[in-house]
Amino acid sequence: MPGTPPLGAVWLSRSIGSEILAEAKSRAPLETGGILMGYYTVPQNGTRNLVISDLIGPGPGAVHRRLTFEPDSEWQTHRVAGIYARSGRTSKYLGDWHTHPQGHPIPSTRDKNTLELISRYEPARCPEPIMLIAGNPLGSAKWELRAFNLQCSTSLTQTRTASLPLYFSD
Ligand SMILES: [Zn+2]
Repeated sequence: MPGTPPLGAVWLSRSIGSEILAEAKSRAPLETGGILMGYYTVPQNGTRNLVISDLIGPGPGAVHRRLTFEPDSEWQTHRVAGIYARSGRTSKYLGDWHTHPQGHPIPSTRDKNTLELISRYEPARCPEPIMLIAGNPLGSAKWELRAFNLQCSTSLTQTRTASLPLYFSD
């Protein structure tokens, strides 16, 4: 999107952060995840921020495995539509979140490909999706949340992601 200021940071309420970690811990050692909804702030000083206002979980029909998970897409689609309507069409699809129950919160090759696919998927209407990963490296009791988006690159063969600053609000 030429002329659109780049993303500066991602904002998240503490309660949404806690919800992600509670779901992550309850499913570990299996993966889980869902959808992020929210809005962009008005550009300031050449950047825009993203505010995550609503969280959607995996859904009752999701399949959880150790290294992958398949969401209940039909259930999620209904939830997305409901939140969008109730918010007065301000809370929109921003991207996905998922867990790495036994790994660092860093996008895998598969994750990068997923981001690339979402950015090209017309119905999602989200040309610059973000991905939030909750990671729990082996031997660590502490989960870590990190946000990523696609990075414009001169290389056409490799998808690159960039880490975005993640801030918590009350
Ligand atoms: Zn992943």
